[in-house]
Amino acid sequence: MARIAAIAQVEPLTTARSLRGPFDYSLPEALAGVDVGSLLVVPFGRRRVLGVVTGLAERTDVPPERLVAPLEALELGVPPELVRLASWMAAEYCSTPARALSLVLPPGAAAGMRERRALVAELTEAGRAVAGGVAGPDNGSSGEGLAGGRGLVNGSSGDELAGGGSLARGPVPAGPRLGVRQQAALSALSGGPLPAAEVPGGHGTLRRLEARGLVTVAIEVRGRRPVNARVGVATVQPPALTGAQAAALAPVAAAIADGRGERFLLHGVTGSGKTEVYLRATAAALERGRGAIVLVPEIALTPQIVARFEARFGPTVAVLHSGLGEGERHDEWLRLRRGEARVCVGPRSAVFAPVADLGLVVVDEEHESSYKHEGDPRYDARRVAERRAADAGAVLLMGSATPRPESVGEVLSAGPGPEGIGDGLSAGAASPGESAAIRRLRLSERVDGRPLPPVELLDMRDVREALHPRAFAALEAVRRAQSKAIVLLNRRGWSNFLTCRSCGRVWECPDCDVALVLHRAQGAMACHHCGHRRPAPQSCDACGSISVARHGVGTERLEAELAGAFGGDAAGRSGFPVFRLDADSASGRGAAGDLLAAFEAAPSGVLVGTQMVAKGHDFPDVTLGLVLDADSTLRFPDFRAEERTFALVTQLAGRAGRGPGGGSVLVQTLDPGAPSLVRAADHDADGFLAEELARREALGYPPYADLIRVVCGSPEPGAAARAAAAVRAGLEIPRAAILGPAPLFRLRGRERAQIVIKARDRAPAVRAVGAAVEAVAADRAHRAATFSVDVDPQ
Ligand code: ADP
Ligand code: ZN
Ligand code: ZN
Repeated sequence: MARIAAIAQVEPLTTARSLRGPFDYSLPEALAGVDVGSLLVVPFGRRRVLGVVTGLAERTDVPPERLVAPLEALELGVPPELVRLASWMAAEYCSTPARALSLVLPPGAAAGMRERRALVAELTEAGRAVAGGVAGPDNGSSGEGLAGGRGLVNGSSGDELAGGGSLARGPVPAGPRLGVRQQAALSALSGGPLPAAEVPGGHGTLRRLEARGLVTVAIEVRGRRPVNARVGVATVQPPALTGAQAAALAPVAAAIADGRGERFLLHGVTGSGKTEVYLRATAAALERGRGAIVLVPEIALTPQIVARFEARFGPTVAVLHSGLGEGERHDEWLRLRRGEARVCVGPRSAVFAPVADLGLVVVDEEHESSYKHEGDPRYDARRVAERRAADAGAVLLMGSATPRPESVGEVLSAGPGPEGIGDGLSAGAASPGESAAIRRLRLSERVDGRPLPPVELLDMRDVREALHPRAFAALEAVRRAQSKAIVLLNRRGWSNFLTCRSCGRVWECPDCDVALVLHRAQGAMACHHCGHRRPAPQSCDACGSISVARHGVGTERLEAELAGAFGGDAAGRSGFPVFRLDADSASGRGAAGDLLAAFEAAPSGVLVGTQMVAKGHDFPDVTLGLVLDADSTLRFPDFRAEERTFALVTQLAGRAGRGPGGGSVLVQTLDPGAPSLVRAADHDADGFLAEELARREALGYPPYADLIRVVCGSPEPGAAARAAAAVRAGLEIPRAAILGPAPLFRLRGRERAQIVIKARDRAPAVRAVGAAVEAVAADRAHRAATFSVDVDPQ
C-alpha cells in the first residue's frame, strides 16, 4: 500500500548549535519514494543544504505559501535505525541532531559521490614506454607486470576497457612534443592507475594524452576494495575450540540463535583465544542470516584481527575506517548497505555501519580509550554499540583481558553466581535501549595452557641509566638467543624538555602551557598538544648560552640507544634490528602495519614504542616484554590513572611468552609499591578490580556516578573563567556533586576552565547541563567563550 505522506520533516546538516530542525518540506509526486533516512538537497534560507529526513507527516503548520519542496533527492540514504540512533546520541551527549546525523551518513554523501562514476586514468603500453623513457612498445614487459600487479584494470571484466587495451598495442604516435603538463601526468601515472581528478593537469591533459594513445581513461568498474597488510593471517581452517572457549561461546551462540539481545563481557587473559570466540559468534550470526559489527580499537594497529576475519569469512567482510580513501569507504559502505557484505570490521565509527538485521556487535579490547570520540558529539562507541544492539535485538559481546571497572561493576552488581545473572528471564523483555544484565564469561588460561609470563617490578629509584642492569642483561640474552623483545615507553620524541644550563630557561609552546619535546631526527621541537613546531635551538634565546640540557628519554632516543648498545647500524641492519612504533614513525597510511609486519618477519629484534606496541599483537616469538617508566601514567591527575596503568602493564605482558619459547616481563618503576603495578605483576585482575571499585565507590566515580565535564575556553584573558562561573551558577542538579570551576592549562592560545559533575541520575543531569550551557552560550556577555560538554569523559 502506497504511503500518503505529503510532508517530509528534514534536519538540515549544519553545524550551528542554535539551528535545530526538523523543518517541513512538501513532497511532490516525483519524490514519492522519500522515506525516513532519505537524503535531500533542500532550499534553506538562501542556501542549498543537505538534509536528512527524520520523519514523514500528512500535514504541517507551515502556511502553504511558505512551504517549499526539496530540490533533489540523493540516490543513497541512511537506514532508518541509524537515524534513530543519531537522535538518541544527540540527546545523550548534549549535541545537536545535525551533528549526530553527520556521523551516520554514507561516506562521501555530502559530496554527492556515487558508485562507479569515478574516472580512472592509466598508461597504455605506449604511454609506459614514453613515461619510462624506454625505447619502444616492444620493451613493455616490465610495464605489463606493473599494471598486472595493480590489477585495477587487468583484473576487471569491464567492456569499456577493452578498446583502451587494444590501443595500447599501437606504436607511439607521431606528433608535437609532450608539454610539461602532459609529462607530469605521465610521470604521475607511471606509479599505477589514478583517479582522473588526481592526475596533474586534469581532464584536459588526459584527453590530449588519450588522443595520442598514451593513456586510457575509463569509468572504474571495480569496487575499491581496501588492501589490508597481511600480518599473521590465521589458517582458514578454524581450530578446534578449547573447552573454555566452547563454554564461553555456548551462551553467546544460544542468545544469537534465539534472537535475544543479551550482553556479554568476555573476560579472558591475554592469549586466551578471545578472537576465536568472536569469529565463532560471528559465524553463528551469519548462519542465522544476521549481520555483525566487530569494533576494534585502532585498525592500523590491529591488522591481525581484520586479516583473521577476512581469512575466515572472505568478501562478506567489509572494512570501514578513516585510513581508507573516501571512495573505498563509500564502496564498502554500499556493499554493507546492499547486503553484499554482512560483517563490518572497523574502529569506533564502524558502530554506524549500515548492517541490516544486525545479530551481533563485538567490542574487542573494550577497555581502550579510543572508543571515545573526541569531537562533538563526544560519543562513547561502547555505549552506542550497546544502544544499537539493544535496538536491533542483537547480542553485544565485549572482550578484554583488562575490562573496565564500569563493566565489571555492572556484572557484580547484577548479583552473585559465577557468571553474574543472565538466565534469559529479563533478556527478551528488555525494551529498546534498555538491556538485560551483562553476563561475564571467563577464559582464565592461555590457549594450550601456556602460563602467563612472570612479571617482575624493577625499582629505579637508585638507577641513573635509562635501563636497569637486569633489563639490559635480559635484552642481551634475547639478542644472544636470537628471539624478540617488545619495549614500551609511553613518550615519543628524543627528550621531554630542554632547559638552558645558564639561565634556566625552559622551552615552552607559545600557545600552550607545556614544554616542547625534542624530535632530533627532524631537527625540531614540537608541542604534543597543538602541533606547534620550531627548529631545535642551538643556543638559549634568552641568554645566548650554548649549553642546553636535554632531560628525559623518549622513544626516539631509546631506539638510538638500543641500536647502539645491541649492535644495529643506523638503518637497523644487524642480526638484532630495532624497530620503532609510535605516532612519528607510523604516521603514513599503512605505516604501522608495515612496521609490525617487518618486526614479525625479522628472525629476531626489538620493537620499541609507545602504548601502540601493547595492543593485541600476537607474535609467538616474543620472549621479553619490558616497560620503562611504568608509573608515568599514574602521575596524571585522573581517576582512570590506576586503571590505565594496570591495563598497560597487563597488555604489554600479554604480548610476551605466546610461543613455545616462553617469556618474561620486566617493569621499571619509581613506585614499585603502587597497587596497580603490584596487581598487574601478580596477574591479579580480580584483586585489582575489587580494590579499584571500592576506591571509586568511596570517591563517587563511575560506575557509581556518571561524569559530565564542561570546558569553557577563550583567547580573551579571564573570559573562560567567567563563562565557567556563569555555567556553574546556572546548575541545579539533585543528587550530584559539582566540582569547579577549576582552571586548566592554556591550550592553543586559549585559556580554559572546567566544571565536573558527578551525577547519580544521568538523564536529568545531562539535560540540566545542556540547558545551563546553552543559556550561557546564548548570552552575549559570554560571546568570546566556547563551550564543550563531555558526557563520560575519558
Ligand atoms: P587473545 O585475543 O585472547 O589475546 P588470541 O585470539 O590472539 O588471544 O589467540 C592467541 C593465539 O591462539 C592465536 O595465535 C590464535 O590463533 C590461537 N588460538 C586461538 N584459539 C585456538 C584454538 N582453539 N586452538 C589453537 N589455537 C588457538
Ligand atoms: Zn639561557
Ligand atoms: Zn602547543
